[in-house]
Amino acid sequence: MPADYHIHGLAHEGPPHTVERLLPYVEAAKAAGLTEIGFADHDRYLDGLDFSVFPELERVTGMPIRAGLEVDFRPGKDHRRELAGRPWDYLIGSVHAIGDWDFDRPGQEAGFNAWDIDELYTTYFSLVARAAATGLFQIIGHLDLIKINGYRPRRPVLELAGPALEIIAGSGAALEVNTAGLFKPVGEIYPARELLERAFSLNIPVTIGSDAHAPGEIARERQQARELLRHIGYTRLATFYRGEMATEPLF
Ligand SMILES: [Zn+2]
Ligand SMILES: [Zn+2]
Repeated sequence: MPADYHIHGLAHEGPPHTVERLLPYVEAAKAAGLTEIGFADHDRYLDGLDFSVFPELERVTGMPIRAGLEVDFRPGKDHRRELAGRPWDYLIGSVHAIGDWDFDRPGQEAGFNAWDIDELYTTYFSLVARAAATGLFQIIGHLDLIKINGYRPRRPVLELAGPALEIIAGSGAALEVNTAGLFKPVGEIYPARELLERAFSLNIPVTIGSDAHAPGEIARERQQARELLRHIGYTRLATFYRGEMATEPLF
């Protein structure tokens, strides 16, 4: 069974980053039948990460543990410099903000009304495209996160996201099928089926991630994501080790 690469061991609390703290996540992953996991905490906790925790956790549990990070992409920020010199297995590039507006945080719903919805989607996807174009990321996180609160564009979302998908395909990054959207107001997996169908036609590889912020959220609704991918035609999932992509069977 493949990996869950989108796990926040430090949740929204931050360091300390210890074996004891991450252990319950590994136990939950084992109980869920996973055979490999990757921690991808938010890059705001980067300086608190202790990279010796991952091999130690692997030794204690026998579970292959990958070292990842979820990077909150901000245009103009020197991400390359921030990320350099650490032994990453993979980096997830995610857009959570437009300017200073962290649109995915609770309490930010009113901000959606300040925008023309198509313009908002276009602006959001242009940021995703810029993130992919940096070539820094092995995985693009929750591609259509902008739908989180259920505000839908007037134009077909495929038209609005199409250019970003072309750039992701050119960058060689994988797309993440993220089940956390099922637990948000939108109540859907990220990304939408039509976006995954385009991704498949562009030969973009995929991973499945739970975006767990607690052990009990690991691998949640994974079966639904697998079935969606299988119906679209995907037969392989991407895996990562030291920045290199490999694939393994979806089932
Ligand atoms: Zn995220
Ligand atoms: Zn996340």
